[in-house]
Amino acid sequence: MSSVKRAIYPGTFDPITLGHIDIIERAAFLFDEVVVTVARNIGKNPLFTVEERMEMIRESVRHLPGVKVDNFNGLIVDYAKTTGAQAMIRGLRAMSDFEYEFQMALVNRTLYPDMVQVFLMPHEAYTHLNSTVVREVASFGGDISPFVSTAVVKKLKEKFEKKS
Ligand code: ADP
Repeated sequence: MSSVKRAIYPGTFDPITLGHIDIIERAAFLFDEVVVTVARNIGKNPLFTVEERMEMIRESVRHLPGVKVDNFNGLIVDYAKTTGAQAMIRGLRAMSDFEYEFQMALVNRTLYPDMVQVFLMPHEAYTHLNSTVVREVASFGGDISPFVSTAVVKKLKEKFEKKS
């Protein structure tokens, strides 16, 4: 077994926010390698394509050498098995995240008991933040710079300029 401690951080990242980046930084402190992996098979009708989301993540995590970006389809436990990840990271913002995360964690543990699931709390400045609210503010031309990286501000502006 490899001694490299690898964690995966799955999500929609539509787009990546400062809350996600906070979690990635904390995970990078704990693990040798953190793979941020974008879910392809999500029924959420995303604003950005998988490639666009991956590119925004790459630009937002440049300062973190152990962080890689990938995408996956299907079950996250199957992705963890094939990539040899020992751990999966999830962010916990508030109690409202807990019920869903608790259920998923127990299902994942049943499917793949060898994978450790790690829940990290972001700085309190980001506990209210999700990608949906960022997309909504951006769609009305609001200032999203307190919520996302400069690279993402630019991409969101371009996206909504094209749409209008
Ligand atoms: P969202 O809930 O914004 O659609 P994702 O599906 O991309 O986000 O979430 C991926 C992971 O990141 C989940 O574990 C989610 O709880 C976590 N996460 C999302 N936003 C934040 C935030 N502001 N702070 C901490 N964790 C977050």
